[in-house]
Amino acid sequence: MEETRGDRKYKAVFFDWDGTAVLSRRAPVEKATAAMKPLLRQGIKLVIVSGTTIENIAGGRIEEHFTKQELENLYLGLGRGAFDYAFRDGKPYVFHDMLPDPDCLEKIHRICFEIHMELKREYGFDTDIVFSRPNYCKIDLMPEALRGDNLFMQADELELLKEKLCRHGIGSGLQGLMELAGRVGGQYGIRVKPTCDAKYLEVGISSKSDNVDAILGKIQEDGNGRAEEDTAGMKESGLQAADCAFWGDEFVGIEEGIFGSDSFMITEMTRDGAFFDVSEVSGKRPDGVVHCGGGVERFLAFLHSMQ
Ligand SMILES: [Mg+2]
Repeated sequence: MEETRGDRKYKAVFFDWDGTAVLSRRAPVEKATAAMKPLLRQGIKLVIVSGTTIENIAGGRIEEHFTKQELENLYLGLGRGAFDYAFRDGKPYVFHDMLPDPDCLEKIHRICFEIHMELKREYGFDTDIVFSRPNYCKIDLMPEALRGDNLFMQADELELLKEKLCRHGIGSGLQGLMELAGRVGGQYGIRVKPTCDAKYLEVGISSKSDNVDAILGKIQEDGNGRAEEDTAGMKESGLQAADCAFWGDEFVGIEEGIFGSDSFMITEMTRDGAFFDVSEVSGKRPDGVVHCGGGVERFLAFLHSMQ
């Protein structure tokens, strides 16, 4: 199997939550936590990297599924770059955050409203905006398409969005929307990091890239701090990106050069890792991402295979 690269075992697994570890936010989490538990016990680092906040991971009670000792090896990178958690004494704590201050958050809100107005004015293209996130806004590009409880990208959404952009005369497509976000951000003096999963254009100042970099750094630091322990074969040099697997369901390219939110897990720091996409959606992935498909079942089978 490609994912074990011969007999080498991964020492850390970074993974998306909705659509990768669980089917939807309300689906039971027991299958996922049962697959995670033995790995945490063995000292393998598990890192949940999700755009959502902690209340939406296992109903805000992920720690109840594990022992204090198992939790030492669990990390959460949430809010698309905003919050990075480790566990101490069985409780989560934020060890790093990238929350915008109130002034910056207000600018993000204004930027998104400007984007919404420009699309409406210039192209008659209607959007909705979700303002309630602590660090970014979600611009709903297809308010007419309801996802219900399934919050991840649906197979036909890409085509629907492309058709809609075309119909409204937005010839530059998604690239044009990203540029618009960048331009409006610039007017407010903010370097925005927009992402798009076909239904939502999300605009904030951080992304999953910030989560994985901060957590990999933290694991390396912690590992170096207690090098003698040699947990899961960790040596003095600490854990390297090449020891890590990264799993998600939104790597697919929406357009040439624009990839989904999980592609942000690929950074300068993590690029030597192994990347896997469980999505069934066809399309181009970033170079090096293995498209294995199979959804949640496929990812959980991978965790089980690591025991
Ligand atoms: Mg997902």
